Amino acid sequence: MTSLLAVPITPESSDPDEVNRALDDAGTARSLGADLVEWRLDSLFHGAGDDAGEAAALRLIAESPLPCIATIRSPQEGGHYDGDDDARIALYERLGTADTPPRYIDVEWSTLSRSANLAQKVRLVVEHDSQHRDVATSLICSAHDFAGRPADLLRRLEAMRAEPAAKIIKIAFAARTIRDNLEFFDLLAARDRPTIALGMGEAGLLSRVLAPKFGAFLTFAALNPQSTSAPGQPTVEEMLNRYRFRAINRATKVLGVLGWPVSHSLSPDLHNAGFDAIGFDAVDLPMPIAPEWEAFKATVGELIAHEPLDFIGASVTIPHKGHLVRFARENHWDIDEATARIGAANTLAQGPDGAWMVRNTDALAIAQCLTEAQGRQSLAGESVAILGAGGAARAAAVACADLGAEVRIVNRTIDKAEAMIAELSLPQGIHVHLSTEEDLRSAPPGVVINCTPVGMSTGPAPNDAPLADATLDALSVNTLVFDTVYAPIQTPLIRSAEARSLRTITGDSMFIRQAQVQFGMWAGQPAPAGLFERVLTERLAGSIG
Ligand code: NAP
Repeated sequence: MTSLLAVPITPESSDPDEVNRALDDAGTARSLGADLVEWRLDSLFHGAGDDAGEAAALRLIAESPLPCIATIRSPQEGGHYDGDDDARIALYERLGTADTPPRYIDVEWSTLSRSANLAQKVRLVVEHDSQHRDVATSLICSAHDFAGRPADLLRRLEAMRAEPAAKIIKIAFAARTIRDNLEFFDLLAARDRPTIALGMGEAGLLSRVLAPKFGAFLTFAALNPQSTSAPGQPTVEEMLNRYRFRAINRATKVLGVLGWPVSHSLSPDLHNAGFDAIGFDAVDLPMPIAPEWEAFKATVGELIAHEPLDFIGASVTIPHKGHLVRFARENHWDIDEATARIGAANTLAQGPDGAWMVRNTDALAIAQCLTEAQGRQSLAGESVAILGAGGAARAAAVACADLGAEVRIVNRTIDKAEAMIAELSLPQGIHVHLSTEEDLRSAPPGVVINCTPVGMSTGPAPNDAPLADATLDALSVNTLVFDTVYAPIQTPLIRSAEARSLRTITGDSMFIRQAQVQFGMWAGQPAPAGLFERVLTERLAGSIG
């Protein structure tokens, strides 16, 4: 059985308009493709004997357009119910024994274990059904920890399994790292009954999306970003379209974007659309990994070692591109010569024999963009100014030097530029020099490549160009201005260059090319022509427009 997709809906009050709105939302969830609604009823009741609240809850369950879970969550486990446990369990009794009961009720293990009397009442609710009705109400016995992995997790799980009325067991805790997801997968593998195992927060996304791969009973997705019932919940749209939830199965291969931060990466949009188009059974997911080398090393090591995960590769971004090369060197993996000279890689993949290899597809993409725009395979005799001294600048410097250009580096922190130049290993006779913006005015380059985040919509200076107007004015009309920033495509630098009739290359061409090379390494065949361009344009229009 595949995992169900449940949408939590939380009416704010028992007001009839609010109940109608909640029912409309449930109808939308059904039309989007959800299987279940979780009615989060916590806020309907104000103390014991709230008849309006109870009537609203009964109506939501009776008129629910999808089978439903009824949940009245206690504040101790992240809910808003403001009465005591006796009143709360009495409500479950009345909802569960009504003419139209919910398909499931969710009661926390902490409540059941606190009082034998309450536990007995909950058992009677679910047993009542099996004796008197065709549609049984089943108990989801749940445990949540918003602080992190509970120290007594396994003991708690064992105690929940000892509860005979618990038809489904749910474990959710705040995932601190990507590695926490692997424990959820191991818990699912050892399940003795339908089980839900979810990591809350950004790091827990894998556990939510990969629920069908590991046989989880269900996973949750929000109707929209404002209506999440737990941190890190993706939307239904993201789950079904971005991550192709319905296509995920036991054999699905897993890829990641490894970086920090990484949630805004558009790589999963491109690659998942490509996998869908060519029928390659894989899913690409953002995987945040804390900036330190130790975190990167431990995470990549565990992703590879966890066989049931079927981890087959990754895109690697800031700040881990150098870490990937270090990891590859320590493990004697295959590193191509250009990547070794750059000292940073953005792609992890397996060769045909299963051996791991790392590559820098940024450098390949930069070289392709430049040679196409210049109409020749060499930049010999060309002067290229690179703005920035980070990972992208390193790739650009090696790509341009390998094409025979004279390279100048302009960076706000001189020390970093000097260190980068000293570390680069270049072809014989080729030199990379430190330069300043003033130098560019007195001796204008033929090509300018922006490798800083200046102009990026989510970066430090979204409205600025990385060069002053006076510098742009000094460039000759044949100058090629290449902005590696791709969100937005029309950056302030590109707009300023176009206003001066300079030739331009926008960052989307580089982004698409580096992604195409990665895709070929993972899937063994190219993505359909034009697909990445279309997906990127749609996503940028959605996120920026
Ligand atoms: P990085 O390693 O963090 O390096 C960033 C560089 O930009 C550093 O040299 C930094 O200067 C400089 N910088 C940062 N903020 C600045 C500011 N406000 N003013 C002036 N300089 C500033 O980042 P990266 O990996 O090289 O990526 C840089 C950019 O390249 C990204 O933002 C992205 O848009 C673009 N990129 C595009 C693609 C693509 O496929 N199109 C691929 C990779 C990267 P300091 O040395 O002084 O800190």
